[in-house]
Amino acid sequence: MIFDQATLFTVATSIAGLLGVFLLVLWLQERNVRALAWWGGAYLMGTSAVMLWSTQGTVGFVTPEMPNAFLFIACGMIWNGARLFQGRAVLPGALFSGAVAWFLAMQFSDFAASEQARVVLSSLVVALYAFLTAFELRRERRRDLATRWFWIGIPLLHGAVFLAPVAQMLLLPTASSDGLFALFAFQTLIYVVGTAFVVVVMAKERVALVHKTAAMTDLLTGLFNRRAFLEAANLMLERRGRKSQFVSVLLFDLDKFKSINDRFGHAIGDDALKVFASVAAGNVRATDVIGRLGGEEFAAILPGNAAEAGLVAERLRAAFQAAGVTISGHEIGATVSIGVASTIAPGAIDSLLARADAALYRAKHNGRNRVEFDRAGSGSAPMPQRIPAPGQAVAALQ
Ligand code: GH3
Ligand code: MG
Ligand code: MG
Repeated sequence: MIFDQATLFTVATSIAGLLGVFLLVLWLQERNVRALAWWGGAYLMGTSAVMLWSTQGTVGFVTPEMPNAFLFIACGMIWNGARLFQGRAVLPGALFSGAVAWFLAMQFSDFAASEQARVVLSSLVVALYAFLTAFELRRERRRDLATRWFWIGIPLLHGAVFLAPVAQMLLLPTASSDGLFALFAFQTLIYVVGTAFVVVVMAKERVALVHKTAAMTDLLTGLFNRRAFLEAANLMLERRGRKSQFVSVLLFDLDKFKSINDRFGHAIGDDALKVFASVAAGNVRATDVIGRLGGEEFAAILPGNAAEAGLVAERLRAAFQAAGVTISGHEIGATVSIGVASTIAPGAIDSLLARADAALYRAKHNGRNRVEFDRAGSGSAPMPQRIPAPGQAVAALQ
């Protein structure tokens, strides 16, 4: 089978155009993966570049600079789409610099008249953007080495093939570059299909991750929701259970929260929940897990026995008492009561929570804004000293 260059170019261009539309349709369904729009747009831009190229001379508005300038913008968009995927900023200056360099070079009649010069500059620009794209994909560290090399290999190959005319000019200056165009068309076909495959796989994973995170997060506070907390708690119980180590649960319930809502409004109540969440998150270690069970009830699970957990609980109680004095400009005086229960893992999270709840009930009963321990599991645990509030400490000294 023999393909002529024109057929190859037509096939490559049509496939790029179709994939461009395909990526844009995917983006319409998953708007938060903006790289899909960038790559879809880039493919359509590349397609229009080739269409402009084939109409050159017959359509009035198409200047000689336009087709390649469009092509270089398309290459820049692919590179910036890869940057977006890695959470990096779009660089508009660098995106357009290939097109700008081309436009400026074309103002020199010697350059514009020399096919060799034009082919060399074009090859360098396309290869440079391809290498930059490979460099961005190299950052995708979550996958195994073989997959990463396959992904990086697609733009690397593209860059290398497009450098061929430069090599040919250096090594065989008299050879014709005719055959190269067929090679470019074929390589472009491999590139657009390969990169579309990569972007679709990455987008699919990104969307799955976003959904998973959303399903695990409490919208108001950003902490784990009940389900995610229970999952993480069970995992900790299982892991620590292998070595029969201590695990403790802290159960929190904000004091007189209904009255905060009644006096200051639901929105200020929400602010108090957010303040508690940030105080709690800021006062536990990275190994500890904290979540919002619902309403104004939170829970934490941490490695360690009742005495260790008691220190954390007391620190948190005091920190929230200090942070809760004024919330969103209102003198609220929010406080929290905490129940602590410990066990030697493994054990059931339900019974641990139930025991912490019984302790919490006593904390409420004994006057709130305090830490109480589950009697069944930690009778011998020493009670940590209550940290006095600043006002109380001063009063005690006087
Ligand atoms: P106690 O000290 O005994 O815990 O008293 P309390 O008022 O905190 O107890 P109760 O369980 O009766 O009240 C909890 C209140 O929390 C009732 C509910 O309106 C409010 N609440 C639950 N979820 C939210 C929320 O997401 N935002 C706000 N602002 N309030 C909430
Ligand atoms: Mg409650
Ligand atoms: Mg409450």
